Amino acid sequence: MLIDKTKCVNCGQCIPYCPMACIQKKDGIVQIDLDECVECEACRNARVCPRDALYMQKLEGTRILRSQFSNPLITHPKTGVPGRGTEEMKTNDVTGRFKRGRAGVCIELGRPGTGTRLKDVQTVAMAVAPYAKYGFEPHNPVTALMVDATGKLREDVLQEKTLSAIVEIEVDQKDIGAVLDAISKVQKDVDTVFSVDFAGRLERDESFPAKIVAQKAGYKLSPNGKTNVGLGKPLAKEE
Ligand code: SF4
Ligand code: SF4
Repeated sequence: MLIDKTKCVNCGQCIPYCPMACIQKKDGIVQIDLDECVECEACRNARVCPRDALYMQKLEGTRILRSQFSNPLITHPKTGVPGRGTEEMKTNDVTGRFKRGRAGVCIELGRPGTGTRLKDVQTVAMAVAPYAKYGFEPHNPVTALMVDATGKLREDVLQEKTLSAIVEIEVDQKDIGAVLDAISKVQKDVDTVFSVDFAGRLERDESFPAKIVAQKAGYKLSPNGKTNVGLGKPLAKEE
């Protein structure tokens, strides 16, 4: 996002609308820190500028990733999903997505106010890759940037910053404790906040082995029922 200096009157009305706090007034001049800007367009979409001074430049090269991951009004070109580009298991329909005995794991990096560099996303992806027995979620924009199954991302994207990004893998439920341990080990290397969620099918007795494994490994869980269940969608076939 850029400010047309021939129009801007430095009123500062756009400042509170930036989720990255990267519009700032210095010495009376309002400026955007382009290294921190994630191209989400929230400032312009707020329509508060009295001079229509905010405008999007043509995003060149890897910078376009910022808007693909951060602008909720853009549909990701690779996955066809708006927002963060993936139908993450936490809030979307998981019917038929996981076979019994498996779990999907989401690691959600970045939040308004902090965002995330893709190098931090790579750090987490590489930590959990050894446990991704069934791979990284293929319809996920982070996966689309990977160069191999180790979770390594393209070198040229690592410094790009996004509002958030989600690493998604599918594991055996028995490996949940090991996955959480792997994430714990790298958390000090990650310069942003993140949350971890996992989802899967209940056993026939309505137990959820992944939850038991995580609790035995010493993790405190916050179970919730936010996940949607689809109507008329076939369940994943058991092997
Ligand atoms: S595009 Fe988003 S991150 Fe960039 S200045 Fe505007 S609100 Fe802030
Ligand atoms: S609202 Fe518009 S005129 Fe005011 S500081 Fe922001 S860009 Fe400049």
